[in-house]
Amino acid sequence: MRTSYFPKNGVWLKGNTHGHSTVSDGRFTPEELVRGYRERGYSFLALTDHNVLAAHDDLSDEKFILLTGLEHDIEYSAGKCTHVTGLSAAEKTATNYLCRRYSSREKSDQQLIHMMCGDGQFVSLAHPVWSRMSWEEILSLEGYQGFEVYNNGTEHLCHGGNAEVLWDMLLRAGKKVFAMAVDDQHVAEDLYGGWIWLKAAERSKQAILDALWAGSFYASNGPDIVDFALDAETGEVYVTCSPCREIHFVTYEPRGKSIFAKEGETITEASFHLRGTESYIRVVCVDQEGHSAWSNPIFFDERAEK
Ligand SMILES: [Zn+2]
Ligand SMILES: [Zn+2]
Repeated sequence: MRTSYFPKNGVWLKGNTHGHSTVSDGRFTPEELVRGYRERGYSFLALTDHNVLAAHDDLSDEKFILLTGLEHDIEYSAGKCTHVTGLSAAEKTATNYLCRRYSSREKSDQQLIHMMCGDGQFVSLAHPVWSRMSWEEILSLEGYQGFEVYNNGTEHLCHGGNAEVLWDMLLRAGKKVFAMAVDDQHVAEDLYGGWIWLKAAERSKQAILDALWAGSFYASNGPDIVDFALDAETGEVYVTCSPCREIHFVTYEPRGKSIFAKEGETITEASFHLRGTESYIRVVCVDQEGHSAWSNPIFFDERAEK
């Protein structure tokens, strides 16, 4: 029997979980951003202004929800830093720690993450390629939940937005972190290029955060993943998606499998037979423009424990 990765009941919601307004260094006001994202079919948005927590609950209604969010940064040198976003459902404008910019002399990036987690935030490591983080640093960090596989703003700045390989290396090392795709908008060029679709129990701030914590979402800068499912008895994994030219099953270990559409055609489904030794399987769907949708992994050691 096929069991979907996503919960059976609930509502699909599209959102951007990282971006900046005039509260920090963004060009657009919160009101302008809410108007733009609403018009393009998004259901939620987090304004993660630099080192300032803002709930923006006054801009939320039953159709469009603002998450409480912020982005902290620690700068090590002019070209090297660590940026981390935090999201919460709390209707508050204060953290349980002193919310400000910290220097690298005051806090390590791990201490920063612990501080944000201690505040109950859903914490994501932002644009690690643009930040010029070393692999040792990335591997050593613990406690966060999301990892930006695609950041539209830093991709436009300097091809610093795609971190899929780093994410896969973390998964191979046994880290269980979810894939985020975000705009990180500061200027117009950054808008509407990276998002997540999540399946929430209902259209509410708390339900969106619950879906994030459960990994009940996928990241995209183009295609839609319609379903991602496993038949545990037969070991078959299935994906259905919007019309794509490539579907990749990525596993460890050994390796997975890639399926390509015939010249001039598209594919909307594929399956993969597990060998039984994989610690996880995830899928990437690539459309004809070269844009990707990244599922979160199904982790098999976790399934065995249940
Ligand atoms: Zn940043
Ligand atoms: Zn940012």
